[in-house]
Amino acid sequence: MSNGPLPNKVDPRKLAERNVRITGKADLIGMPNLCQSLIGTDGSVDVDLQFAVAEEGRRIRMITGSATGHVYMTCQRCLDPVEVTVEVDFNLGLAASEEAAKQLPRTFDPLIIGDEEIELLSVVEEELILSLPTDAYHDDCSIKTSYGDAGAVTEDNDKPNPFSVLAQLKASNK
Ligand SMILES: [Zn+2]
Repeated sequence: MSNGPLPNKVDPRKLAERNVRITGKADLIGMPNLCQSLIGTDGSVDVDLQFAVAEEGRRIRMITGSATGHVYMTCQRCLDPVEVTVEVDFNLGLAASEEAAKQLPRTFDPLIIGDEEIELLSVVEEELILSLPTDAYHDDCSIKTSYGDAGAVTEDNDKPNPFSVLAQLKASNK
């Protein structure tokens, strides 16, 4: 296991053929699109990715693994920073084209790649952005947590989180 930064560009096909596992830290500052939704650019996300080939009737090159960490967003009630836990599971199937992507088993999220190497950080960043709550809230804004304090959650209790609903749908499809 490495705790260094992620490699920048990789060839995911080669990594899959060689069954490579990549672990490392993705610095927030290297993910500007993600940072647009965050307060501050300090910190990093722990990334653990396994490249492999699945045999499901045919060979599917895939990337599985996770990205976990803590970021800060603005609480939409009191406008103070609120800590948000990010936790992303990767289940990407590599596809050379839109057409090929449609033929992937539905259990995979397609990742369309050309012939070039891909920027690993961009792939991680995109998944992280999708995992962020639209609006972040403190559990209880009257209990002021200091910056860096745990004890805040992202759920808005008034309405169901669309992502958790999606997760339930996905789970019941299995
Ligand atoms: Zn608040």
